[in-house]
Amino acid sequence: MLFRQLFDGASGTYSYLIASRKGAEALIIDPVLEKVDRYIQLMEELDLRLVKAVDTHLHADHVTGLGALRDRTRCITVMGENSKADVVSMRLADGDKLDIDGVSLDVIFTPGHTDDSYSFVLEDRVFTGDTLLIRGTGRTDFQNGDARAQYDSIFNRLLKLPDDMLVYPAHDYKGDTVSTIGEERRCNPRLQVKSVNEYVELMANLKLPNPKMMDVAVPANMRIGLAQELVAQKGWAVSAVEAIRLVGQRDVALIDLREPSERERHGAIPGAIHEPYPKLKDNLSSGGVLRALGAERRLLFFCAYGERSAMAVQAAQEAGVKSACHIQGGIAAWNAAGGPIER
Ligand code: FE
Repeated sequence: MLFRQLFDGASGTYSYLIASRKGAEALIIDPVLEKVDRYIQLMEELDLRLVKAVDTHLHADHVTGLGALRDRTRCITVMGENSKADVVSMRLADGDKLDIDGVSLDVIFTPGHTDDSYSFVLEDRVFTGDTLLIRGTGRTDFQNGDARAQYDSIFNRLLKLPDDMLVYPAHDYKGDTVSTIGEERRCNPRLQVKSVNEYVELMANLKLPNPKMMDVAVPANMRIGLAQELVAQKGWAVSAVEAIRLVGQRDVALIDLREPSERERHGAIPGAIHEPYPKLKDNLSSGGVLRALGAERRLLFFCAYGERSAMAVQAAQEAGVKSACHIQGGIAAWNAAGGPIER
């Protein structure tokens, strides 16, 4: 496995670049906007193709790199289903898998620091976001933070992981880079409490100043959606209402870009062909299935919220598939318009 812990000194943020090997698909956890050039350079040096950019939660202390990475690499942006970010390409829930080629992380919902905080387990390590820090825990006094929920997330979820599991947090301000579950259970001063009430009391009396960047970062991180209007202005989008009328027409091929887990959970449009977004480049190259299909029929891409499909339309148009368009707003808009779903 290829693993890099990257640091943003201004916000004390750790970001993590993960891939199965050189030349493979990559994902990045908690990227920072100011460091996007560096990530892209590093991925070029390591011959990696960014497929997913993931935030553990909506950050208050730095602006996320998710939007910029998506705009520059056409990667999939990922957050939890409860995130208040306007649009991300894909949303995860507890028990889901976060997958790229050769790497699979288990998704654990660990609210408390915020109400959209997630942790991700990868083999011998866990990425804890701001839920569990090294000798600390993420504050719970804003963004719907909840010390009671955080106690539950830490004691009943994270501390149930094996003692020797490595802990990689989203931040450190003292220079520590990694810990273990057992070490935190024994040595983390915040975890030496006898009850949930004691923890709640401890967290209520921290009296921390607000993060310097909070007034900038939170609003920015809530507006990271792709500008789907630009795709629509080129005539490459149809509304969900229009799309409903196109189902079953023989000259139209509906292409579902979502992952198997999303289709399972949310259902699919009847008759749609399943070709997940990460395979798009191959599918659009000469000899690819979508290249061939697009020559005969009008390709109508869709995904969860319209981000992956908007990027797919751009890629298809660049590849010369001039019939390609997408359902603006994705399955979310489709459901709102009352479109048929089969499970
Ligand atoms: Fe945070």
